[in-house]
Amino acid sequence: MYRIIDGKATAATVREEIAAEVNKIKEQGGKIPHLAAILVGHDGASETYVAGKEKACSAVGFYSTVIRYEDTITEHELLEKVAEINKDPEIDGLIVQLPLPQHINEQKVIEAIRPAKDVDGFHPVNVGRMVIGLPAYISATPAGILELIERYRIPTEGKHCVVIGRSNIVGKPMSILLSRKSYPGNCTVTVCHSRTQHLAEITRSADIIVAALGKAKFLTAGMVKDGAVVIDVGITRVKSDKTKSGWKLLGDVDFEQVAPKCTYITPVPGGVGPMTIVSLLKNTLLAARREIYPS
Ligand code: NAD
Repeated sequence: MYRIIDGKATAATVREEIAAEVNKIKEQGGKIPHLAAILVGHDGASETYVAGKEKACSAVGFYSTVIRYEDTITEHELLEKVAEINKDPEIDGLIVQLPLPQHINEQKVIEAIRPAKDVDGFHPVNVGRMVIGLPAYISATPAGILELIERYRIPTEGKHCVVIGRSNIVGKPMSILLSRKSYPGNCTVTVCHSRTQHLAEITRSADIIVAALGKAKFLTAGMVKDGAVVIDVGITRVKSDKTKSGWKLLGDVDFEQVAPKCTYITPVPGGVGPMTIVSLLKNTLLAARREIYPS
């Protein structure tokens, strides 16, 4: 019988823990964590993500500031704002919601954020520190997955982990983190991507599969061995006449078929997704405490 990894419940527990920390900080007269988000334009998904982050901040007692710009803002103006926030002692963490309009170089903006405030963990300094095992902000989705593995005490040492996807925000960091000499970690990791051949053969040899490719129901039962742990990162929005909104979310895993073969599996929705925002909150707490970058 498989066990569902309940990301929604775990995220609620982590939020309670963070809120308790904030209460302690308040009692001791310390600095309340403050997250700033820059939102450029009116992309529906970006608006929803930023609203979710704002709500999560207030739920745990953090301060949050959203700085909005029309998509006509120049790259120079945006970089100036980032520089101003970098110097603002009130703000502990800064995220720039992606994607940015085409005329703005995203990488340039990411690299303009001070690594000490880069709570998304996208700055090359944080990525590099993560790779060599130094304290760093780990990007929210991989950090959330590690937290789920840890809280469910899923064994990882010596296991063969197959990560499907090699993006900078999910697949690549996930593969590095799971091969680290620590727990969760110590896995033998195989990274698969769009040019991988004989993918099903590779996934069938996996003890742990992290599916992060963004193709609905891609991972089928024939691709999974009995007893595997399956982490589904994918989110694809499809039309549905069974929901009020007219939409539903599908993961990269064909859950009904695959789940009976697993020991543990994450559902979509309610698996990895809810953990992503709480990981951002945890990074912001670390930033307020100057834990990663003390000076
Ligand atoms: P991406 O498009 O940047 O990367 C997809 C990766 O999948 C690429 O590296 C590509 O090589 C690989 N890929 C594509 N087709 C493949 C195939 N047929 N076989 C093997 N590999 C293949 O996507 P991303 O940003 O990493 O996101 C992946 C999915 O995870 C998306 O559905 C996204 O919405 C979702 N996501 C969810 C969360 C969350 O909080 N739950 C966070 C980030 C991303």
